[in-house]
Amino acid sequence: MRKMSMDDRLALNAFNTDEENPHIDVDTEYTDEAEIKKLLLACPAECYKYIDGKLVFSWLGCLECGTCRVLSHDKIVKAWHHPMSGVGVQYRQG
Ligand code: SF4
Repeated sequence: MRKMSMDDRLALNAFNTDEENPHIDVDTEYTDEAEIKKLLLACPAECYKYIDGKLVFSWLGCLECGTCRVLSHDKIVKAWHHPMSGVGVQYRQG
């Protein structure tokens, strides 16, 4: 049996995303690259990007792990909560 890659496993998840109401509030004007890099490296869903010196965030593929909230210490992530019931990620592989 072939070992599944992380991308293969993530592709099995289903999302019912609330595109109107982000469950994470991110300060995209934040400029400390060292702090930004922590989130870029830690987010398993690559929701954070750093493009042309600007932090870009999308909650649409969020796995709701909470890692960014813990690492940010309120510097970049201003608010974090789970999506409303019935919305968000549905895990298919644990
Ligand atoms: S909660 Fe997890 S998956 Fe979602 S944006 Fe933060 S680090 Fe990424």
